[in-house]
Amino acid sequence: MMPPASRPTLAAQRDATGRAHDAAGRFMRTSDPAPHITARRTEVARLYPEKTCAEIGAELGWAAPTIWQDVKALGLDRRRPGARRKYPEPEERACVGCGSLFTPPSWAPDQRFHSIPCARATPTERVRHRARELRTEWRRRAEAEIAKLNAAGFLTAHQFAAERKVTESTVSQWIARGLLKAERRVIAREPHRIIAPEERERFNAEEWPRICKRMGPGFPENWGGERRRTWSRRLRAPLVGQLGGHRPGYTDAQAQLVRQLKTKFPTLGRATLAHMVTEITKRPITEKQVRSILSNPHK
Ligand SMILES: [Zn+2]
Repeated sequence: MMPPASRPTLAAQRDATGRAHDAAGRFMRTSDPAPHITARRTEVARLYPEKTCAEIGAELGWAAPTIWQDVKALGLDRRRPGARRKYPEPEERACVGCGSLFTPPSWAPDQRFHSIPCARATPTERVRHRARELRTEWRRRAEAEIAKLNAAGFLTAHQFAAERKVTESTVSQWIARGLLKAERRVIAREPHRIIAPEERERFNAEEWPRICKRMGPGFPENWGGERRRTWSRRLRAPLVGQLGGHRPGYTDAQAQLVRQLKTKFPTLGRATLAHMVTEITKRPITEKQVRSILSNPHK
């Protein structure tokens, strides 16, 4: 039978640790750690910022709890067990709101306000920027959606107004009066009225010539103001007799006063004139009536 391979004696093992021991082999009490522990702790101190206790233990050939004791003995800033920090510790900074110094928590290293109330009380460029970004985003989405509809031949009321060279409110009136059918649709949070290609074709063929005829020459260009009123009077003309004729709602004295005031103070607006004449004559006169008086200076 082979004798077992000889192993270092207990005394030799003790000598290897470098610690003093008495004749009986007991370790002597000492305030300084043994040289091998000091050497290990130097390594621990070097590795600790980058590695966990278990990793250091594996590397140096010691159990993790031993390394943990070294960390404690070295007075290193002890970490909770678990995954290491991905990012460096946040640094102390001044609060953007009130200027007081604070250190953000590790989970919010970019925090700019020291507290939530402070952040709420301070509308920041960041908040405004985010709002702007969102608006841009909605606008972009709406444009993409409308472009898709356009590709299929659909137009929004806005686009249809541009095509017909009228205002969008004119198109709204056509829709309200049933001359034009439109589908209401919310696109990227905004309400739109969508006109189908067939409806557009029908409108252009049936309604549009009628509207042009009714609105007089030059429509829709140069349409508005005095020109529109002239035409509306002409178009109402056939009804005048049937309705019992035109009876002005103001007196001759009021009309005269309006003209006198306008001559003396040419910069006065219709609203002001109406108000002044109402006050002076103690009889109401409207802005429209003032306009009517001023548009017929020879009466
Ligand atoms: Zn603050």
